[in-house]
Amino acid sequence: MNFGNSLLSMPIAAAPLSMASPVPFSTQELTNLNPDDLTQLVHCFLNFTSNPLENIHRLVNLGRELTGSLCACYQSSFQPEWVERSQQESLTCIMDNASQSNCSRRQLNRPGNTSSLNLLRCPTCQCQQNGVSQNWVITDDIHGKLSMRHGPGRPFNSEQRKLISLITRAIAIEEDRLYEQERQRIQQERELVVSQIAKQIRKSLDLQDILHNTVKSLLDFLEADRVIICRINDDGTGEILEEARNPEIPSMVNWVLSDPWLVDQKCHQDYLSGQVLVIEDMQQANLEPGLQQLMDFFKVRARLVMPIILTQEVEANTGDDTPGSGEAWGLLMVHQCHHPRQWQIDEINLLPQLATQLVIAIQQAQLYEQVQIANRELSELATQDGLTQISNRRRFDEYLDHEWRRLLRSQAPLSLMLLDIDWFKQYNDTYGHLAGDQCLQQVAQSLKQSMQRSTDLVARYGGEEFAIILPNTTETGAQFLAEQVRSQIAQMPILDPSGHGNASMSSKVTVSIGVASHIPFPEASPKLLVAAADLALYRAKEQGRNRVCIASDAELSQAE
Ligand code: GH3
Ligand code: MG
Ligand code: MG
Repeated sequence: MNFGNSLLSMPIAAAPLSMASPVPFSTQELTNLNPDDLTQLVHCFLNFTSNPLENIHRLVNLGRELTGSLCACYQSSFQPEWVERSQQESLTCIMDNASQSNCSRRQLNRPGNTSSLNLLRCPTCQCQQNGVSQNWVITDDIHGKLSMRHGPGRPFNSEQRKLISLITRAIAIEEDRLYEQERQRIQQERELVVSQIAKQIRKSLDLQDILHNTVKSLLDFLEADRVIICRINDDGTGEILEEARNPEIPSMVNWVLSDPWLVDQKCHQDYLSGQVLVIEDMQQANLEPGLQQLMDFFKVRARLVMPIILTQEVEANTGDDTPGSGEAWGLLMVHQCHHPRQWQIDEINLLPQLATQLVIAIQQAQLYEQVQIANRELSELATQDGLTQISNRRRFDEYLDHEWRRLLRSQAPLSLMLLDIDWFKQYNDTYGHLAGDQCLQQVAQSLKQSMQRSTDLVARYGGEEFAIILPNTTETGAQFLAEQVRSQIAQMPILDPSGHGNASMSSKVTVSIGVASHIPFPEASPKLLVAAADLALYRAKEQGRNRVCIASDAELSQAE
């Protein structure tokens, strides 16, 4: 059967968007039309809804009615999956199987999205014929094809052709509106993703959490197979910090990526450019063989790489003030596995926006860490003795109080040593105050080293006096320890203040130690231990110095 003249197909090409008037044509174009046809056409335009798909459907039906065609169909945004399912449809005969290529509506479609507008057909169509061959193409500019069929041997006359041409243009305008609506929808979706991530960054200081949510949101939005954030270490290796992926593809977590950016200067330069690097098909990208192998191993066929560059403002301490220079902190990567992918402009544009948010998050986390360190240093300063770098009196008081209460609950012994350097005034007078300071530092270090438990605390009690708090330590244990400390200091080579730093055994330093020990009880306070240890210390001095005395029961009662 020959449909020659009777099958009329018109490519629907984009027309300028100018729908200010409900009738998108000049009066000149509408002259010579049958008034009834014109009325129906205008009526159709006036009843357009906000849904371009519905309007196209009406236009196709109107075209069939006005031209008296047996059937009319409009093919657009062809999807192979859909065609397979449509094999049973009555209009398959005038669709072209050769057009089952991967084309999409002006590149807005996502993988897996089947456009709802594929074929709009005349509901009364009875057409069942096979063997119809047509050639039509969908490009960025041609959205689809309108086909109409008259009965055999009935060519379309010029007025019918004119009508079809007008309807074709009206469909093109609706297609443009559809495209615009779709574009705005995707843009809104993208803005939503960015704003959600930005919101989360404002809410959280936990960088790991932010990275985790970023890769997850991006994977969902792009419907990609893998999204990773990779940290570039100082040695040039890449460490995967976060990954979100399609469960069917292998994970890259725990892989250390070697350094294409170090080996390949261009790659390094590209990363520092701060631009998205787009590869639609890895096999056509002339990659360095090692990188190609890695990508093959992880089934990567297409990818986007967005460098995360910390700029000057972020890294204020680098000392480099070249404008625009920065450090490649890491990479945000999107992988499509198994098949190439034509990345869409909207998809590509999302990455720099996310990278900006990530830079803010990283900067925030770095500042937070700096503040934490500064806080720790400050609180150490507040509890440390400046000269000897051991705990100060304030820390001693706090800790003794704390341990007293803790051991009161557990009813375990608490011991305290008070140490005083013997004849220290004389030492100062002989060697000078600076040498005296050095001696205090050495004694403090020696005391610190002789402590065996992390719960023991050595503090400078004041002047040339030191204190050691020994939680969960009995009197016998404390006495043993005190004796060790005493003999260690007595043997300590003290720097000869007059001998330019040479160690000399000639200037010996000794300490006297008072020890008090008790299981805390509610009626007393830790001052009891301090007073009793002080009495014992006094006794040690009295008895000739360089010795340890243990507070007796009488001294403990006296201290109470
Ligand atoms: P004793 O054996 O009875 O304890 O005699 P002593 O000389 O050690 O005791 P005294 O209380 O008479 O003298 C303590 C000296 O410790 C006096 C003071 O100059 C010195 N001293 C206290 N704090 C410091 C310090 O921070 N640096 C130096 N160099 N000396 C200090
Ligand atoms: Mg003293
Ligand atoms: Mg002294």
